[in-house]
Amino acid sequence: MFSINIPGCAHKHVRMVDRKELSFLKKLRIRFIGPKKAFSIIVNKEKGEPLDYYYGYCKKHGYFISYPQGWDRELRCPLCKIEQK
Ligand SMILES: [Zn+2]
Repeated sequence: MFSINIPGCAHKHVRMVDRKELSFLKKLRIRFIGPKKAFSIIVNKEKGEPLDYYYGYCKKHGYFISYPQGWDRELRCPLCKIEQK
């Protein structure tokens, strides 16, 4: 499976997604309708609140898995985040 390690990212579940990992319909949905929930994981065992991860699409880098961040709960592409630094 194709994956890129995102340096400086504490969340090991945030990664780029290979096109083959998603069905054609899922890709269309993610690209034109919006992020689709991938899974949820309890990251902080003490708090016990699961964090929802979504499939997202970046025009520049393609499909990725990330979680909503910031006040606007925006799903950001991990590679774009690296480039902005
Ligand atoms: Zn990107």
